Amino acid sequence: MAKYDITVAADNCTGCLRCELACSDAYAKTFSTASARIRVVMTGPDCEISFTDECVECGICADNCLYDTLSKERKEGDR
Ligand code: SF4
Ligand code: SF4
Repeated sequence: MAKYDITVAADNCTGCLRCELACSDAYAKTFSTASARIRVVMTGPDCEISFTDECVECGICADNCLYDTLSKERKEGDR
């Protein structure tokens, strides 16, 4: 599986949680934000985004972000 560096532009985040649901769907076969390998925490207008140790850098979360918060770039040397 291809691996990607995920770049985060947290200022763009709306807190829609599409990224968490897409990750959960892909790897836990459920729509549960608690099962996601990406964590989005909104505190008022501020947003913090982190990835758990289980993240496999697949880029699915970035593919499902409609607000240009997450972008992906293929890792160098990855085939
Ligand atoms: S999909 Fe994008 S905009 Fe929505 S919560 Fe995730 S990072 Fe934020
Ligand atoms: S890169 Fe893949 S495994 Fe990591 S948080 Fe995004 S969807 Fe989940």
